[in-house]
Amino acid sequence: MWQPDVLVVGGGPAGVAAAVDLAGMGLSVLLAEQRDRLGGAIHRAYVGAGASPVRRNVHHQRDWQALLDRVEQAGARLTLQLQSVFLGVEGDGRYLLDDRAAGCVRSVRPKAVVMAVGGVERVLPIPGWELPGVSTVGGMQVQLKETGEAPQGPILVAGSGPLPLALAAQLAAAGNPPLALLERGTPFGTALVQPGAAFNGLRSGPPLAEALAYARQLWRSRVPYRTGCQVTAIEAMAQGLRVTTVNGRGQTQVYEVAHLALHDGLDANQTGLPRQTGAGLPVVWAGDCREVLGAAAAVQDGRQAAQQVAKALGRPCPGASFDAPLQSARRLQAALRTLYQAPVHDITPETVVCRCEGLRASGFAALQGAGSAHEIRVVGRFAMGACQGRFCARAAQALAAQTGVAFEPQDLNGSVPRWPLRPVSVAALAAYADE
Ligand SMILES: Cc1cc2nc3c(=O)[nH]c(=O)nc-3n(C[C@H](O)[C@H](O)[C@H](O)COP(=O)(O)OP(=O)(O)OC[C@H]3O[C@@H](n4cnc5c(N)ncnc54)[C@H](O)[C@@H]3O)c2cc1C
Repeated sequence: MWQPDVLVVGGGPAGVAAAVDLAGMGLSVLLAEQRDRLGGAIHRAYVGAGASPVRRNVHHQRDWQALLDRVEQAGARLTLQLQSVFLGVEGDGRYLLDDRAAGCVRSVRPKAVVMAVGGVERVLPIPGWELPGVSTVGGMQVQLKETGEAPQGPILVAGSGPLPLALAAQLAAAGNPPLALLERGTPFGTALVQPGAAFNGLRSGPPLAEALAYARQLWRSRVPYRTGCQVTAIEAMAQGLRVTTVNGRGQTQVYEVAHLALHDGLDANQTGLPRQTGAGLPVVWAGDCREVLGAAAAVQDGRQAAQQVAKALGRPCPGASFDAPLQSARRLQAALRTLYQAPVHDITPETVVCRCEGLRASGFAALQGAGSAHEIRVVGRFAMGACQGRFCARAAQALAAQTGVAFEPQDLNGSVPRWPLRPVSVAALAAYADE
């Protein structure tokens, strides 16, 4: 069993910022990350030789390199435990990690915990979204960043928010511009009637510069940007996908593509996290899993979490305030939510809601009488699959609300989360190393 002062789960900007600050205060830190490298959602490392051919934002790169330098400087106070998946908390308070490199489950008994497991992409269920060839925008971006290559064949990018814009521009720069970028919202029209949101977006500094650079790339590559436009159906063809879309005037258009990337926003990933508490073992959430505020704010939030932990452990710590940068990130996110607001389409009965178990909306309707999140989970098996509700809980919540059953998405996971939160092999459990 490991007994560090602090266990930090998640090696993205928030977790790394928290870990290096805590190590800098003289505390011993175990940083557990499920992947084989640090970086989180945004800093996916290129796995090829030499420099990545995918252009990265200079501003983000500089901040990330500064954090990596501090990881080096932390020396023995900071232990990196890569390829280690947080599984949950045992009844007696041990934190369980699936050490995939060693092939065994290990336990940790820290004095405090920082959970920094990031966000999760939201994708609204559409008929056919479970088909091969459909991915999330983030998933395709990760593939592009890690391999340095855009997927082959025609691509369509659709959904809502700034991330599809970034992906479309990066695909174009990598030599395979998408056929079109379809945005469900109407950000330019909304900006005219919501000038406050437009003003907050325009004064955001680096994020605005980043968006303009993406827009320039799309314009140079002649990628059509269609607003007020959404995907209504996806069908498999002998080769590839047929994607039907409709615009605000009700006109349909069909695209034949090899790949479709979908994205409708980011949500905090709070599925199964131990609750935040100051009493007993202090647990602090940081970064996107606490509140989705973007990469720069995740660093500030991680640093804030380090201060909270140090205070709870009675350690002296610098009293820096992170309120101003977090507040400014919150303003930007609120502006983006307003500018990109879009109508949410109804889920048709044949639409798959839970992709892990292939459960359709019609199956949900057959659950008449299920009056609680618990019944919907146990009887209907929603949120019972490999994702444990990270992807389907929000859609299940919307369907339940139509039948008058109200609950929060995380309620589907139960009031006391049970481990394992992620699939774990029986061999790893059998090799549970608790020495
Ligand atoms: C694909 C994508 C692209 C983005 N691009 C931008 C951008 O261009 N600009 C911008 O400002 N923001 C961007 N964002 C948002 C930005 O990435 C986040 O705001 C920021 O990375 C949040 O940092 P974080 O440390 O909170 O979470 P993350 O960066 O998501 O890091 C969380 C880490 O926790 C690990 N983890 C999760 N679960 C477990 C577990 N059970 N056990 C162990 N480890 C676990 C993950 O592997 C990950 O490394 C993007 C987000 C995504 C998903």
